[in-house]
Amino acid sequence: MINIDGSFGEGGGQIVRSALALSMVTGQPFTIEKIRARRSKPGLMRQHLTAVQAAAEVCGAEVSGDAIGSTALTFTPGTVRGGEYAFSIGTAGSTTLVLQTVLLPLVLAPEPSHVVLEGGTHNPFAPPFEFLARAYLPLLRRMGADVRAQLLQPGFYPAGGGRIEVDIAPVAGLAAIDLLERGAAVARTAQACVANLARSIAEREIRVIRRQLAWPAEHGEIEEITGAHGPGNVVTITVEHEHVTEVFTGFGERQRAAEAVADAAARECRAYLKATAPVGEHLTDQLMLPLALAGGGSFRSTGLTPHAHTHIELIRKFLDVPIETQREATG
Ligand code: AMP
Repeated sequence: MINIDGSFGEGGGQIVRSALALSMVTGQPFTIEKIRARRSKPGLMRQHLTAVQAAAEVCGAEVSGDAIGSTALTFTPGTVRGGEYAFSIGTAGSTTLVLQTVLLPLVLAPEPSHVVLEGGTHNPFAPPFEFLARAYLPLLRRMGADVRAQLLQPGFYPAGGGRIEVDIAPVAGLAAIDLLERGAAVARTAQACVANLARSIAEREIRVIRRQLAWPAEHGEIEEITGAHGPGNVVTITVEHEHVTEVFTGFGERQRAAEAVADAAARECRAYLKATAPVGEHLTDQLMLPLALAGGGSFRSTGLTPHAHTHIELIRKFLDVPIETQREATG
């Protein structure tokens, strides 16, 4: 039994989700205590609980402590089985984070899977669907995974009601990749999307991004979404290079000016464009798990966040793979 202190390092939901994924793939049971102990609402929230339930369903696990607000959980995995799955978070909790939990175990399962997830698709503090589809999944496919995702209906915090669909075909395993250079620049786009809100919000956002990044008009796109459950606004800036695509996101919020939302995303993108490392902050912590499961690989990152350091510690509890980090001299 692997024992995990849920409050170590970054101390967030990622520890729970990655522990579940690692447990499912390696067959090792674990107990976690002090789940999200230092967060304002400690313990399992709806999104985390759905992730636990999804993991349990996918591998027929025995679980205790799976309740809202629970700060301790014991998970004894069974065999992962691909198949038809539907996971509904019931709130605007992030579908992409629930997917993160079961995705790699299902990629490595001997049967194909079709997974439908309902909840939020564009949530603050979580990968938006575009990040999953454009940045993360292409790298998984390069590692050998046969996985595709589709956005059927966007869902914004707090109304939710979004839907994504993921198809996975069996593969022999994951192969290591080395992602040390970006390669040639291929494309750049800024998209501002509004649901049940004025188009002018998106227009203001695109104006800020174009000015900040000195991009010509053809790099800006506006999308007005119909049929969403509630209001929503998201800006995504996509930078595609030959070997990697990065996505920078700003989420519209009440009481936050459209200009501020766009400005923050544009600044992140500008910092990335000034650097040379291919892998940005969020991809860095998310790539660690597939690389560890592939048993090798390397990448150059713009920097290691607390999420990344915590992930390394967690992976070491389940897998006997050497993980090395090195700081590069910047000039
Ligand atoms: P946690 O805070 O522990 O629930 O983990 C959040 C996860 O979402 C981490 O893997 C982050 O890298 C990821 N994440 C948060 N914000 C973004 C974003 N804007 N784009 C991509 N991934 C994100």
